[in-house]
Amino acid sequence: MKRLLILGAGTAGTMAANKLRPILKQTEWDITIVDQATEHHYQPGYLFIPFGTYTAADVVKKTESFLPSGVDFITSGIDRVDPDAQVVHLSNGEIQAYDYLIIATGTHPRPDQTPGLDGPEYGQSIHDFYTLEGATRLHEALAGFTGGRIAVNIVEMPIKCPVAPLEFTFLADAYFEKRGIRDKVDMVYVTPLPAAFTKPVAAKSLGGMLDERDIELESDFMLERVDAENHRLVSYDEREIPYDLLVTVPLNMGADYVALSGLGDELNHVPVDKHTFLSKKYDTIFALGDAAALPTSKAGSVAHFAVDVFTDNFVEYINGRPMERSFDGHANCFIESGHGKAMLIDFNYDTQPLSGEYPIPVIGPFGLLKESRRNHWGKLVFKWTYWHMLLPGRRLPVPTAMSMAGKHREDS
Ligand SMILES: Cc1cc2nc3c(=O)[nH]c(=O)nc-3n(C[C@H](O)[C@H](O)[C@H](O)COP(=O)(O)OP(=O)(O)OC[C@H]3O[C@@H](n4cnc5c(N)ncnc54)[C@H](O)[C@@H]3O)c2cc1C
Repeated sequence: MKRLLILGAGTAGTMAANKLRPILKQTEWDITIVDQATEHHYQPGYLFIPFGTYTAADVVKKTESFLPSGVDFITSGIDRVDPDAQVVHLSNGEIQAYDYLIIATGTHPRPDQTPGLDGPEYGQSIHDFYTLEGATRLHEALAGFTGGRIAVNIVEMPIKCPVAPLEFTFLADAYFEKRGIRDKVDMVYVTPLPAAFTKPVAAKSLGGMLDERDIELESDFMLERVDAENHRLVSYDEREIPYDLLVTVPLNMGADYVALSGLGDELNHVPVDKHTFLSKKYDTIFALGDAAALPTSKAGSVAHFAVDVFTDNFVEYINGRPMERSFDGHANCFIESGHGKAMLIDFNYDTQPLSGEYPIPVIGPFGLLKESRRNHWGKLVFKWTYWHMLLPGRRLPVPTAMSMAGKHREDS
């Protein structure tokens, strides 16, 4: 019997289990998946919790209900992978052997990595929306906020869903306007990037949206420490940003066991071939989703397209044939812009987000880099799609590889 071990039953691990179980014969392959949690979180839904649109009930479901029969689920933390012996030491004391290992334990906010951030002010004047607890506490903080200065800060890239802090900022602007106190709130968006976003066309458009909303942009801000007592962000080049309420996106890091096993980079993400997800060090290990160090966004959409490519390749690989499919870095994300509207971006390793229509030229129905109500509804409907189509591994009617159809080439 061959053994496939999947570490992490989040977006990527669950999809991989659902896609591979029907393909790998049960008489030949054991599939086991390990996760420290028994609940699966729809993380894109965290964005809406601070504004009262969603509650925890919208974003949390039992992990087991999304795993196919014929896959063993172990609830445990992971202590260490021994890649030479091809075994994983679990925190519950078990040792799991594998023929092939998929690392899919994601990336997670680590406020403890920035001096001054993770102190007594965390949950008081400092909040996040990258965890369920953080988003829930931020809901109360926003409801009680009657005026002052809000700073939204990305500590360092890469973070999962790099557009989420912008979305939060646009939604907060609309939220305060709706409450009739926008004129009493100063907002500043503080980023280590040289502009509002990484790629030029999207950066121009998103930067313009901050301007229109009278939101200050503080770019190239490399955070050295948070002076939590005096409510200030301090950068390495000695700039100081005062705030009354800080919404932080802390440093994102892969799981600690990745570092302990000698499998990670400096942020505990696993270096892999960017087209096949095979570890650069071990030919029995793949990394999928946010756990992988890939030069594209860390996003659920990337995990989805990546798992499609990986599944076909894996079947070839275990049969000793070359992996013919090549992942192109395809990512797409709706960007909430407030007042019931959103934008959409679609890009890959080689093509930056461009304007146009998606997925069908002229028809859409979604507009690229254009605010519309349809895009907003697309984002809300995506929650249903996630639970009912994506996680169970069903095919969506969108191409896995990025297509130029419908895109306007304003970068050429
Ligand atoms: C606020 C926010 C908004 C977002 N919005 C979007 C969006 O609009 N569109 C989009 O595409 N993506 C979005 N994302 C990103 C998306 O949620 C992630 O990219 C996606 O969940 C990655 O899937 P994954 O399987 O790699 O990791 P995860 O889904 O995070 O799963 C990792 C799993 O590993 C488990 N695990 C971790 N460490 C250990 C350990 N040591 N031992 C045992 N188990 C462990 C965890 O419990 C978890 O179940 C958003 C994320 C956030 C936080």
